[in-house]
Amino acid sequence: MTSVNVSGLRKSYATGAEAVPVFTGLSLRLASHESLALTGPSGSGKSTLLNILCGLEGIDGGEVHVLGHEGASLSNDQWAGLRRQRIGVVFQDSNLMPALTLEENLKLRADLAGRSFGPVRDWLSRLGLAGLEDRYPDQVSGGQRQRAALAMVFVMGPDLVLADEPTGSLDRHTARDVADALFHWQQAQGCSLILATHDLELADRCNRRLDLAGGGQQ
Ligand code: ADP
Ligand code: ADP
Repeated sequence: MTSVNVSGLRKSYATGAEAVPVFTGLSLRLASHESLALTGPSGSGKSTLLNILCGLEGIDGGEVHVLGHEGASLSNDQWAGLRRQRIGVVFQDSNLMPALTLEENLKLRADLAGRSFGPVRDWLSRLGLAGLEDRYPDQVSGGQRQRAALAMVFVMGPDLVLADEPTGSLDRHTARDVADALFHWQQAQGCSLILATHDLELADRCNRRLDLAGGGQQ
C-alpha cells in the first residue's frame, strides 16, 4: 500500500514580482508503515512539503496522492476531514490549546477524530505524562509538552503522521526520549511517518532519508 506518492511536483512562492522556486519536479513515494526523514538546510522546502501533504499549501504542477486521494481533487473541507481523522500533524508546540488542560486537549482531539484509540488517560500515561492530566500546556516542561503533542496525534489513530522538527527545541537527552516515543507508537500503530529535521541522528532512525538541498533531485 502506498501512503504518499508525489510526482513532478512544482511549487514556487511569489515574492514581489519574482517567483522563487522551491520544487521544480520533486518525486517521492512512501509505503504505509514506512518512515522518511526530510533533511536539508533552512529554506530548502521541508515545511512547504509537509504543508502540501496535509493540504495547507497548494501546488503549481505535478501530482500529489495522499492516502489514496489525489490532492487536487480534494476540497478544503475534505482536507480538513483528513487532518481530523487520518493525517496527524505535529508542528512545534502548535497543536495544544493553551486554555485547555492536557487531558481536555486530548479528549477534544479524540472527539474530533471520532475514532479514538483507547482512553485518553492511557495515552497520557503511555507517553510518560501520568499525573500531569490537569496541567495546562504552559505548566509542563518543553519535553513534556512535545510528548503531549505526540499523544494528540496518536490518540486519533492516524494513517500518516507529519512532524516538523518534532525534537527541535529540546536538549539532546529529552530529544531522544521524545523520538523513542514517536517511533515506538508509529510502529505500534503501523502508520507512516514523514518528519523534517536538522538532527541527523533522528534522520538516521527513519527507514529512508530525502535531502531537499538543491530541490530534492537526486
Ligand atoms: P524549510 O522548512 O526547509 O526551512 P520552507 O519550506 O520553510 O523551508 O521554505 C522554503 C522556501 O520557500 C524558502 O525560500 C522560504 O523563504 C520560502 N517560503 C516559505 N513559505 C513562504 C511563504 N508563505 N511566502 C513566501 N515564501 C515562502
Ligand atoms: P524535561 O526533561 O522534560 O525538559 P525539565 O527538566 O524541563 O523536564 O523539567 C523538570 C520538571 O519541572 C518536570 O517535572 C516539569 O513538570 C517541571 N516543569 C518544567 N517547566 C515547568 C513549567 N513551566 N511550569 C511548571 N512545571 C514545570
